Amino acid sequence: MQTKSVYIAGSTGSIGTQALAVCKKHGIRVVGLSCGKNYRLLCEQAKEFDVKVLHIGDERAVEEVKQLFPGCEVATGEEALCRQIQESDADTLLDAIVGSAGLKPAVAGIVSKKKLALANKETIVCAGQLIMDLAKENGVTIFPVDSEHSAIFQCLLGNHDREVKRILLTASGGPFFGRETLDNIRPEDALKHPNWDMGNKITIDSATLMNKGLEVIEAYHLFGHKPIQVLVHRESIIHSMVEYVDNAIMAQLGTPDMTIPIQLSMTYPNRMESDAGEVDFVKLGTLSFYEPDAKKFRCLQLAYDALSIGGTMPCVLNGANEIAVDAFLQGNIGFPDIPKLIEQTMQAHTAISDYTLEDVFSVDLWAKNYARALVTGFGKSCNQSMEELK
Ligand code: NDP
Repeated sequence: MQTKSVYIAGSTGSIGTQALAVCKKHGIRVVGLSCGKNYRLLCEQAKEFDVKVLHIGDERAVEEVKQLFPGCEVATGEEALCRQIQESDADTLLDAIVGSAGLKPAVAGIVSKKKLALANKETIVCAGQLIMDLAKENGVTIFPVDSEHSAIFQCLLGNHDREVKRILLTASGGPFFGRETLDNIRPEDALKHPNWDMGNKITIDSATLMNKGLEVIEAYHLFGHKPIQVLVHRESIIHSMVEYVDNAIMAQLGTPDMTIPIQLSMTYPNRMESDAGEVDFVKLGTLSFYEPDAKKFRCLQLAYDALSIGGTMPCVLNGANEIAVDAFLQGNIGFPDIPKLIEQTMQAHTAISDYTLEDVFSVDLWAKNYARALVTGFGKSCNQSMEELK
């Protein structure tokens, strides 16, 4: 079903702003918008798209926005966001919030039977099977926005699921591919992604390869527990592939531009003109592929470990990662400490195998608090070793 009206949660971010450009181009009605702190941009968006339902994470800004938009519903707090989504007459929720803060809104979208265009990979990482089951119970389709998962979704069309041999999940390799050591990396170095322009958290995740780890977990749940191989593909032209039992491989290609998957998540089953550039194969010349170095980029291995332990462990991986990335960006830990902090948090948790959504919410909180305490123990020096915490 093609989207006619949408609630965009996380509209001020990288995905959110690109989604609004798609809505503008194709006349999709925007009925709700939410942000964390950037209420000024939210106000501009509300004005441009004539949106009457607004949500702001930062409660200090609510009164000011209410005065600017007297005819609008302006709210704050997680419960209010979920209520707005549930009560909205949008046929689609685009969840473009970053981090596990996107989980409850995704649940609100599903239980109110809205189509879910899901950019927030953390939702599936934290609560994988529960979300898939909930979507099934409510007859809701989840359309992945992540470029790799959108590619896999497209590569599966017209084929039998039972004939899939494996998924080949491509990775750019990030800014530190091929680098000797990961020491002395500053946040500003890690924030320079070679191919994609994205929010800060996912850009750091791409530099550590945690982003690929989170995507492995996401793909595992979205596409029915298939074997997944990660392949470094520096040019980010092939967005992922599916290999079938006859060794035929389907691939989806395009320029590294999120417009394509964001748009498809709303226009499917139709394809419409987009502002993304065309691939010039002659100019490109070569496409390269490498095995990822999971020894150097420990986060990828930790994600595979969390997936194989299962239960609530991926939620712990995700929660600890969110804190570690934030601490790195604040200059409180070094780049190589990110996987160490995550691993120590995972080691302190015994996974709950038969878990509920309530378990996920409390495990997420626990993992973040635990990781935060590790950071605090760490002091302010980037040079201090995690070993000192043991
Ligand atoms: P950004 O950081 O650019 O944007 C995040 C959005 O979420 C902003 O609107 C932000 O508001 C809002 N937000 C942040 N914290 C909270 C919170 N606690 N509660 C409510 N809202 C909050 O992220 P991206 O757009 O890059 O990524 C969004 C999601 O999409 C992530 O899960 C990411 O992994 C995924 N994704 C992103 C891709 C990309 O190209 N950017 C590609 C594939 C997946 P404010 O602006 O006010 O801070």
